[in-house]
Amino acid sequence: MYDFLIVGAGFYGAICAYELEKLGFKCVVIDKRNFIGGNCHTSKMHGIDVHDFGPHIFHTSSEVVWNWINQFASFNNFTLRPVANYKGEIFSLPFNMWTFSKLWGITSPQEAREIIKNQSNGINVPKNLEEQAIKMVGTDIYHKLIKGYTEKQWQKSAKELPVEIIKRLPVRFTYDNNYFNDPYQGIPTQGYTSIFENLLDDIDLRLGCDFFKSKLPNYKNLIYTGPIDLFYNYKYGPLEYKTLRFNHKILNVNDFQGTAMMNFTSDEVPFTRIVEHKHFNFKNTTKSVITEEFPVNYIAGKTEPYYPVNDTHNNSIYEKYRKLTKRETNIYFGGRLAEYKYYDMDKVISSALNFITNLSS
Ligand code: FAD
Repeated sequence: MYDFLIVGAGFYGAICAYELEKLGFKCVVIDKRNFIGGNCHTSKMHGIDVHDFGPHIFHTSSEVVWNWINQFASFNNFTLRPVANYKGEIFSLPFNMWTFSKLWGITSPQEAREIIKNQSNGINVPKNLEEQAIKMVGTDIYHKLIKGYTEKQWQKSAKELPVEIIKRLPVRFTYDNNYFNDPYQGIPTQGYTSIFENLLDDIDLRLGCDFFKSKLPNYKNLIYTGPIDLFYNYKYGPLEYKTLRFNHKILNVNDFQGTAMMNFTSDEVPFTRIVEHKHFNFKNTTKSVITEEFPVNYIAGKTEPYYPVNDTHNNSIYEKYRKLTKRETNIYFGGRLAEYKYYDMDKVISSALNFITNLSS
């Protein structure tokens, strides 16, 4: 009899298992997929760590989280500096003085602010993503670098999307193109999968084991990190997710695009971005692996859920499920899918570590 059955070998599940075993509890981890690491999983291809489910850049402001993860991996000094490709023209991202200078031939923050102010004239309280974007960066950037990309990504008109989505995007009036503001950032030098191998080394693990379909071992407590709506058999309806199709390609070139991430912002290109994995680890190999990302329609139970759509409608459905979870005894819910939160890795780590602290206190 296990003390804990843990559903999901992603960060939340793997951390719970590692920390609980350290406290003396016997755990078994199951995952319906045939590999560990959840969406952070990386595979080795031609000496390159390929991020199978989208590019994962580790970044955090938390010293606690940074020290904790460094027990299981060493990180390089990669910083994310993506570029936008609009019909063959290259712009710096996130929006910063390099972007403004290229677009408008200007050099100072004052000139950039003046142009944006003139272009966003008349928008006081933005009602949708389009208005919010124009207020933040003006019409030129909106039409070249935001509209096409966002509408591809969300498969909705920017006029129908909420302002919150675009508010997350950094806009800088300096020549700083580091995407993240966090003091700690990097990529694990041995890939993400090795972190999970370290975490789950001594833990009983069953892969290809679906909580809802497979024969389960006996257990006293359950930690569930899968989709919350599925756990309750979609009682209040399915929650919406954004999902993607990844098209991986192995190329006989040393360097395909000169950068890890290039966003294609015109609606004439069907994919949203190309990731060239070797640039995450500064690898000098004769081949290169790239991934094109295509947004696809999400169908609950059929396609993989990636990004929760935390709008008012979905959050109100989630709130109903959350109330059900509060009635459970010996069942705990955590992670991106069970909490329906747009968690980055550091936030999941922090949430799992807090859960263990509360459980053991
Ligand atoms: P998951 O990793 O999703 O793990 C849940 C696990 O549960 C999965 O392995 C799943 O197979 C398993 N499971 C589900 N249902 C069942 C079932 N019925 N039976 C058995 N097993 C089940 N974060 C960053 O910090 N930086 C980034 O750059 C970044 N980029 C991202 C890019 C993409 C495209 C995506 C999708 C996410 C990105 N993230 C990034 C977020 C990061 O992936 C998550 O924070 C992290 O993976 C969440 O861990 P988790 O354990 O909550 O969930």
